[in-house]
Amino acid sequence: MTLSDSELERYSRQLVLPEWSGAAQERLRSASVVLVGVGALGSPAGQYLAAAGVGRIGVVDDDTVELSNLNRQPLHFTPDISLPKADNAKVKLAALNSEILVEAYPARLDGQNAEAIVMGADVVVDCSDSFATRYAVNDACCAAAIPLVEAGVLGLSGLVLSILPGRSACYRCAFPAAPPPGSVPSCREAGVLGAMAGIVGSIQALEAIKLLTGVGDPLLDRILQIEGDTLSFTTVTTERQDDCPACAQVPAAQQSGA
Ligand SMILES: [Zn+2]
Repeated sequence: MTLSDSELERYSRQLVLPEWSGAAQERLRSASVVLVGVGALGSPAGQYLAAAGVGRIGVVDDDTVELSNLNRQPLHFTPDISLPKADNAKVKLAALNSEILVEAYPARLDGQNAEAIVMGADVVVDCSDSFATRYAVNDACCAAAIPLVEAGVLGLSGLVLSILPGRSACYRCAFPAAPPPGSVPSCREAGVLGAMAGIVGSIQALEAIKLLTGVGDPLLDRILQIEGDTLSFTTVTTERQDDCPACAQVPAAQQSGA
């Protein structure tokens, strides 16, 4: 497998990185990523994954574009209002990088369909905005031993955690139970600044690229907490729980290229 002339030019600024290589680029090209949600986090995550050359991206979202999305979801433009987000993301990402395949799944991921949706992915990037979806994605990825990048953003705060099921703490190990309903304000109540979501979504893309290529050191057993008001980055360690209902019994996932 070799890179074409257009790929060599398109990816030239990352191919020149000392940490990168043609082999790393080829690993990205042969990789399949499932992006759960293409809103505030999924827009930047999807853009950077597509631009970097992830060969196949599945976009899962059942929402349509609304005017109130546009302050923080830069994959969706004003003329796109009322279009399905998954279809619109497919059009935009395919236009950004014609070398890759983007597939739209206009579905809401839940505990019933999660395993079918993530099946076959090399990495899942969870850009959803509810605790229920996050646990469903985590549990499905653990059951199938698929590496996962979890994240959340609210107000001016965000967090990111990468997961190799069976090897590092999963989302449920780190956060065994969802907060009680009503204890955490929703995005609608607390608000989100687009630039803050952009930081968190960009870090998710970086983590996914690291997991796919073996380049760098992903956020395993480390929760990155970001406070946008002071721009402070704090890393909190976490660890696997022997009795975790999601990951205690699963075979270890493999990081590509590692
Ligand atoms: Zn676990």
